[in-house]
Amino acid sequence: MKTGLELLNVTLEYADGDSTVKALDAVSLSVSSGEFLSLVGPSGSGKSSLLAVAATLVRPTSGAVVIDGSDTSTLNEAERTALRREKVGIIFQQPNLLPALTAVEQLLIHEHLRGKPVREVRRKAEELLDVVGLAGCSEKRPHQLSGGQRQRVNIARALMGSPSLLLVDEPTASLDHERSESIVRLLRRMTDEFGTATVMVTHDTEFLPLTDEVATMRDGRISRALVPSAYPN
Ligand code: ADP
Ligand code: MG
Repeated sequence: MKTGLELLNVTLEYADGDSTVKALDAVSLSVSSGEFLSLVGPSGSGKSSLLAVAATLVRPTSGAVVIDGSDTSTLNEAERTALRREKVGIIFQQPNLLPALTAVEQLLIHEHLRGKPVREVRRKAEELLDVVGLAGCSEKRPHQLSGGQRQRVNIARALMGSPSLLLVDEPTASLDHERSESIVRLLRRMTDEFGTATVMVTHDTEFLPLTDEVATMRDGRISRALVPSAYPN
């Protein structure tokens, strides 16, 4: 079985008044476990739509989304939700941390809501905070953390469920250069260590060499396989 993400001829149309907008136009894409793909393209080209479809948050109009060999179009809503929880980690530009909770609690809350005993998952949460460079910050609340640290909590939280896919939408858009680079390096390391199939939407072309491959979107269509090292520094 092929692990990772496959999109097969995926089209997504949104209703727009009397007409429709084609956010994704016959997109096919394959990202294997341990592979880090960056996704670039102008605003409105369909990048976030691609992530939403890959995350099974939005059903495509046609085509197939295959995660770890399982065709998600054959699943009902409950099964899709279960698969998403088990397989998909999502990281948005804004960390969306809960202000009242400490860093470690941000990681625990979803596991707790899933009915897992907190003691069991607490060690994993502490380990992940350590892995993302936040050892010693587990009792801090969002206002006590820098923007880069909050994004690290966000990344650790996305990894709590041991996802197969890591879908990341402009993780560095509100960070300065140095912090942006360290976040992309962290995502590279997480992809290598945890073997996730990682897709990152980004505008930071200077960090593309840290990824394995670059796909470009334009008007809902995808073209792939510029080699990052071909980019001038
Ligand atoms: P990007 O992330 O590359 O900026 P999006 O995926 O957000 O692009 O948007 C792709 C196209 O789909 C755009 O034309 C956008 O206006 C349209 N679109 C995105 N989300 C919706 C929605 N929920 N309803 C209608 N149109 C949408
Ligand atoms: Mg977007």
